[in-house]
Amino acid sequence: MARQRHAVVTGGGSGIGAAIAAALDNVGCSVTIMGRSRPRLDAALRTMPRARSVACDVTDAASVEGAFNEATAMSGPVAILINNAGLVRTAPFGKQTDADWEGMWRTNVMGSVYATRMVLTTMRGLPSGRIINIASTASLKGYAYASAYSASKHALLGLTRSLALELAETSITVNAICPGYTDTDIISDAVANIVKKTGRSEEAARDSLIQVNPQRRLIDPREVAAAVCWLISEEAQSVTGQSIAIAGGEIM
Ligand code: NDP
Repeated sequence: MARQRHAVVTGGGSGIGAAIAAALDNVGCSVTIMGRSRPRLDAALRTMPRARSVACDVTDAASVEGAFNEATAMSGPVAILINNAGLVRTAPFGKQTDADWEGMWRTNVMGSVYATRMVLTTMRGLPSGRIINIASTASLKGYAYASAYSASKHALLGLTRSLALELAETSITVNAICPGYTDTDIISDAVANIVKKTGRSEEAARDSLIQVNPQRRLIDPREVAAAVCWLISEEAQSVTGQSIAIAGGEIM
């Protein structure tokens, strides 16, 4: 059933997005990954030769329109949309600039809005459609020094819940996956930032993130991908408007 479905993964060139793209490729989807960096997309494609890529900046509506038109021309209407591209900038509230707020809002919220707009009309005509937003535990609770990120990810969850209700009488489901700290470049950047700001060792900085998870570990991106594979299954048709935490029991 999944074999011929066209799946688009924004931010599919690295981290969680690349793990999702590889898993969808593995279950037989026709996968298109999108992102700004051509070298990053090309490197990801070397690990999944059947997938395709289209350069796209999700903050730019015209770029998103061009990219989805190109992807659809190559691989047909999009049956599965994974809104995964994301931006994190942490700092105390008083030091977060308008540019920080706008950057995270445009990437984490408007990027998903633009991509969803591009697929919705044709997705309504398909036997089944799936929109999965890669949100965060920061959609469900606050984190100090991450007010702009958390606000944007709360908004992404609000979008998920509302759109799910709007589409409940169609064959499209809309869900959010909320990972805790996951072992990707975002964590490497966060560790470097903590080291720079606090003078702690890299090990101590990394450990401070690990300790947030009651299982005392970082999430593996493949765990997020496995949840996506369940959500795209026929058996998950009744699951919509949900926020699925993959966070080792972190209390929200
Ligand atoms: P990465 O930095 O590896 O992935 C982010 C991806 O988004 C990159 O491939 C990047 O590609 C792409 N991207 C960023 N901005 C844009 C843009 N404007 N247009 C198109 N693509 C863009 O980090 P993760 O894999 O960790 O993050 C993936 C998602 O998971 C994000 O939404 C993040 O918020 C979320 N998440 C991550 C957690 C973690 O701890 N790692 C925890 C919870 C949620 P390029 O730069 O080439 O455009």
